[in-house]
Amino acid sequence: PFEFQGKHVTVAGLGVSGVPAAKVLHGLGARVTVVNDGADDRARAQAAELEALGITVRLGDGGTLPDGTELIVTAPGWKPTKPLFTAAGQAGVPVWGDVELAWRLRRPDSAPWLAVTGTNGKTTTVQMLASILKAAGLRTAAVGNIGVSLLDAVTGDEEYDVLAVELSSYQLHWAPSLRAHSAAVLNLAPDHLDWHGSMEAYAADKGRIYEGNRVACVYNVADKATEDLVREADVEEGCRAVGFTLGSPAPSQLGVVDGILVDRAFVENRHKNAQELAEVSDVNPPAPHNIANALAAAALARAFGVPATAVRDGLRAFTPDAHRIAHVADVDGVAYVDDSKATNTHAAEASLAAYGSIVWIAGGLAKGATFDELVAGAAKRLRGAVLIGADRVLIREALARHAPEVPVVDLDRTDTGAMLQAVQEARRLARPGDTVLLAPACASMDMFTNYNKRGDAFAQAVRELGA
Ligand code: ADP
Repeated sequence: PFEFQGKHVTVAGLGVSGVPAAKVLHGLGARVTVVNDGADDRARAQAAELEALGITVRLGDGGTLPDGTELIVTAPGWKPTKPLFTAAGQAGVPVWGDVELAWRLRRPDSAPWLAVTGTNGKTTTVQMLASILKAAGLRTAAVGNIGVSLLDAVTGDEEYDVLAVELSSYQLHWAPSLRAHSAAVLNLAPDHLDWHGSMEAYAADKGRIYEGNRVACVYNVADKATEDLVREADVEEGCRAVGFTLGSPAPSQLGVVDGILVDRAFVENRHKNAQELAEVSDVNPPAPHNIANALAAAALARAFGVPATAVRDGLRAFTPDAHRIAHVADVDGVAYVDDSKATNTHAAEASLAAYGSIVWIAGGLAKGATFDELVAGAAKRLRGAVLIGADRVLIREALARHAPEVPVVDLDRTDTGAMLQAVQEARRLARPGDTVLLAPACASMDMFTNYNKRGDAFAQAVRELGA
């Protein structure tokens, strides 16, 4: 175990991971300095809280490496190209992220991790997995961006049998010694490339989740890049590659046969070559991408030895988080669906694929994305489109190229109130049986504080229609 007593540890970044990390390290006897780029009110309040404990905080100075630093613990979002890390590299100082810290600090008898990453579907899959594990009577928690914090889960008093852990590509980048029981990469599409530098670097960081797996590396049969990552990983002897597919499963895969989720990787009965787990209708909502999430969750649970009945019960008990393909209301025979969490084109593609005839509300911050593929794939299902936000022109142009016959309303607004008008325009375009779908394919920060607020504005606007 790493000896923290008296060590000079620099924590890079206040915030959700930095503050608890600084406290824990301080409690272990380390001499902690926190460096933070910003110095706004929130940072000042957090700094005051830490300084009261005797921790040094440098605000507005995240770039320089404090003298004598022996270890950096960084917030996952900090870019690897920052001067702080260049200096650390030159000085031979190791850099850990929040996940690495949690992994190193976990109690020796602490619960194994079932880990999930991917461009989209992480939170949903981890929650489905936790629901399945609970249905099997196991003490567990969904850990990561939502719910319990990783550090709390591994160092707190609560005891767990197994953890369902969501990991981002940033976190994996900074977690070199993590070794999961089993792990899944759900899918790989370009995202956050500005941070990672290239698609190769992004994929390599995601692939770390498989390193040292003991029982199963779960991959997406439809996404060959995920299978390639399994092949490249260095795993424990006996660890299996297990695929999931929306089609009929080959041996060592989970898939779908006649509306039934079927497991051909972990079959209990020696006389059978497949185990039925649940019905597609047990998955909420039963959209194709979400069935894929359910299969990935089931694969990890089965790798942990969970019986088929618990998979079914856990999937039935699961309800998706807000703003993820959430049905808001039906008004005049038109369904209104909030997928504000579709903040990139890959996510929006999945939700557009889940409906027949759609009035699409889209736009926001494109983060460098292009929309041609998305629009071309959905063109036939679009009744119309209503565009909002800063980068809506990119979507308008893609629509003109690939769906010239689809009516488009370009609102040319980036104020919060634009959502009400967008919903009213969508209502005019929609016919009974259609779905008005908020799947922006963009980040929300040009108009809203976050995707939650964007989704809330949509739901509020829909309620006003109905009133
Ligand atoms: P993450 O935690 O990876 O951001 P979420 O579970 O919060 O993922 O889902 C985010 C959005 O991504 C959803 O609103 C949906 O639009 C889309 N999505 C979910 N699962 C998938 C999937 N397996 N493939 C593609 N898109 C998905």
